[in-house]
Amino acid sequence: MRKKIVAGNWKMNTLPAEGVELAKGVVAGRGEVCSCVNFIVCPPFTHLAMVAEALKGSDVALGAQDCATEAKGAYTGEIAASMIAALGCKYVILGHSERRQYYGETSATLNKKMAQAYANGLIPIYCVGENLDEREAGKHFDVVKAQIEEVVYNLTEEQYKNLVIAYEPVWAIGTGKTASAEQAQEIHAYIRQVLTAKFGAAAQETAILYGGSCKPSNAAEIFAKEDVDGGLIGGAALKAEDFLAIGKGF
Ligand code: 13P
Repeated sequence: MRKKIVAGNWKMNTLPAEGVELAKGVVAGRGEVCSCVNFIVCPPFTHLAMVAEALKGSDVALGAQDCATEAKGAYTGEIAASMIAALGCKYVILGHSERRQYYGETSATLNKKMAQAYANGLIPIYCVGENLDEREAGKHFDVVKAQIEEVVYNLTEEQYKNLVIAYEPVWAIGTGKTASAEQAQEIHAYIRQVLTAKFGAAAQETAILYGGSCKPSNAAEIFAKEDVDGGLIGGAALKAEDFLAIGKGF
């Protein structure tokens, strides 16, 4: 039985006090959603300590949105995986398309970040997905395959067991355009096939999340698909009510 996950990527939104309120709202309403759903919130680095406090005593997990390629040292402005782990993070989002697109993250960068995440006991939520040109050219399968082969294939079998994948088509992020449930299933099944080619039966246990304009009104249809194990939510994660309602989509 694969884990059902609803993860909120707050991106660069909320001031610390607002983040704490949002987290408290998620904790307060969490009981209305099946305990079989694993909720994760990923606030900006600056709020992690405070949000960790707000989540105390609940089963809502904490994640960060990125970590450094290096363990520590003279890397001005960077945040080490050990630092976010020390604040209570269990997860870290790596390879989000916004990081690939705006901050030049490559597979080489991501291999280092994955190593740092595992060295510090964090579970990576590794993001893959094609942009609009690639989708229109029918290259989406090749794009996600390369993103997986160049990074995930380097993991040990032990590391692989602690991995979440998020498929986020760039053309659906923040645009209001969602992949159809059929489009999501098609590529999620393909991703699982690519994972199976390397990791065998263990790929059946890997949670593959959908991300891109996922909201309460479309979550149930998408989550109903066999290879969709939940969502990585941007905009709709900024309202506790909507975020929780997405969890009811299972
Ligand atoms: P939206 O839900 O705002 O489209 O963002 C998706 C996303 O990028 C989550 O990581």
